[in-house]
Amino acid sequence: MNKLRLGFFKYSCCMGCSYFFAYVQKHVPEVLASFDFVFIKLLSRKGIPEGPFDIALVEGTITEAWQVDELKMIREHSKKLFAIGSCAVIGGIPAIKATSPELEVEKRVYKNLSSIHSIKPHAVDAYVKVDGYIRGCPPVERDLYEALTSVLTGRKPDFPQYSVCIECKLKGNICVLIADDMPCMGPVTNAGCGALCPSMNRACYSCFGPMKQANAPGLAKKFKAMGISRDDIIRKFTEFGADTIEFRKAVEMVYED
Ligand code: SF4
Ligand code: SF4
Ligand code: SF4
Repeated sequence: MNKLRLGFFKYSCCMGCSYFFAYVQKHVPEVLASFDFVFIKLLSRKGIPEGPFDIALVEGTITEAWQVDELKMIREHSKKLFAIGSCAVIGGIPAIKATSPELEVEKRVYKNLSSIHSIKPHAVDAYVKVDGYIRGCPPVERDLYEALTSVLTGRKPDFPQYSVCIECKLKGNICVLIADDMPCMGPVTNAGCGALCPSMNRACYSCFGPMKQANAPGLAKKFKAMGISRDDIIRKFTEFGADTIEFRKAVEMVYED
């Protein structure tokens, strides 16, 4: 059987998802043996080779105009395109920049702004159609393999569509929100991590981003009733989800309240 052509592309981010991908390759090679790694940004000094690609994995937030052009070119030459990691899926940590006036963050970091051409940070699907979302910061193996095997078998990928609370309850954890008054974001966060943080007696901080149609304003109200400051509530909903409709609603509610 011919191997499928895979490209791993990277935009503004810490490259942690690339390292995760390299780690998975080393430890669980069975599925990845079916792919020909045509391009992996982490391992390449050269520019992007010409497609076509059977599958494109795209990591990072889109923060510059040239990235939009390149991303559209990749989409055009790829049968399937998956966003991988919270930066690409929801805007992630780089999207915090969108909560400040334009260029304020850049001014804090760079003395000379003449070479800075940043645009408002957005997730990958703000510009191109995405065939699936491999969530997390970094993601988990299960979702990466779901994406890869869906392409190998020609079926629709099946990712978790429920909250971290469901995973937490299935593990039999004591709820840190109810029992310990910790501001846990689990009720509004998409599952996939196996409730990693609450299982270690820590509150979820939503690194997987919002679950679709999450009642984020409801949770923000609960945090307020727990005595958490306005600024801390805003931080919770903008750390990873500043570019998401669901968490923006919570922030707007806090400002209006
Ligand atoms: S999702 Fe997290 S691990 Fe992946 S690139 Fe972004 S910040 Fe790094
Ligand atoms: S600890 Fe957090 S994730 Fe677990 S059930 Fe409670 S609110 Fe949900
Ligand atoms: S519990 Fe929340 S913060 Fe922790 S890994 Fe899961 S989604 Fe991320």
